[in-house]
Amino acid sequence: EAKNQGRGTYATYRKEMRGRLEDRAQLETDLQFALQRDEITVFYQPMFDAASSQILCYEALMRWTHPDRGSVSPSDFIPIAEENLLIDELGEWLLKEACAEAVKWPQTVKLAVNVSKLQLMNHRFFATVVEALSASGLAPHRLVLELTEAIVFELEDELQQLIQNLSDIGVSFALDDFGSGYSSLNYIDKMRFSMIKIDPEFVRSSAAGSLNSQAVVTAVVSMANSLDMVVAAEGIEAGDQADAMRALGCTCFQGYHFAKPSASVSPMPANTTSDRQVA
Ligand code: C2E
Ligand code: MG
Ligand code: MG
Ligand code: MG
Repeated sequence: EAKNQGRGTYATYRKEMRGRLEDRAQLETDLQFALQRDEITVFYQPMFDAASSQILCYEALMRWTHPDRGSVSPSDFIPIAEENLLIDELGEWLLKEACAEAVKWPQTVKLAVNVSKLQLMNHRFFATVVEALSASGLAPHRLVLELTEAIVFELEDELQQLIQNLSDIGVSFALDDFGSGYSSLNYIDKMRFSMIKIDPEFVRSSAAGSLNSQAVVTAVVSMANSLDMVVAAEGIEAGDQADAMRALGCTCFQGYHFAKPSASVSPMPANTTSDRQVA
């Protein structure tokens, strides 16, 4: 009886595993055609200056609307794209699309684009950024590339050089998801980030009163202030979280409490000069 049950469970498990693998294989195939089928779009989520409530920046977030499955999260399809080297194609498309959009915004508003390690490791990456900037006419100082801790934790010389080259043309960098993994301050001064984004988990625990989390945020803020970096709090879902992060010295907020990612940016003042009007 027990043996049969065990076998049954095992068979069910095998079936489930096979189902999941077939699922993933199908998703992989579908992703290859997603761009040409116009299923990939860009959403934009604003980041606000805590003092003035002005929009400092919009972060571009990739969206995939699958014909059968509906919206697939980038957390699910970016890893698949990375395994297939589709990430280069998708990333290049997003960069060009988002730069062309951002050029219509007021010049004070920046564009943040997430970049994965594989994208950086492509030797064409620098040329891709330059192309996206020149094709759109977006000023390089308005482009911020978001890199996660995992990328910069052990930065190889080659990547360090690439980042230096991009900095030299005016592109800046943000450290994304700070506190989600390594929580080490050691590498922060190796790289001149313009911004550090505190991970939502950390925002939650700090706001909930964790002395440990608060101490880390305080240390990051103090370091960031002396290095002229902005500290942003990500994933703010409630007013008390914003208050807590403001009290700890964060000067930039992003999260559903303020604005969700959306397909189009809120209307910008018509009389503001954009790069395109200037050019
Ligand atoms: P991320 O860069 O840390 O982006 C923040 C994520 O948190 C986004 O999820 C955003 O929609 C979500 N978010 C923002 N505010 C809130 C909030 O108040 N509450 C909650 N629960 N979530 C909030 P999304 O768009 O699903 O993206 C997930 C991750 O996928 C991103 O994390 C980023 O690492 C990656 N990603 C997105 N677009 C791209 C892309 O174009 N290229 C690359 N390489 N990665 C991307
Ligand atoms: Mg990001
Ligand atoms: Mg993040
Ligand atoms: Mg993330």
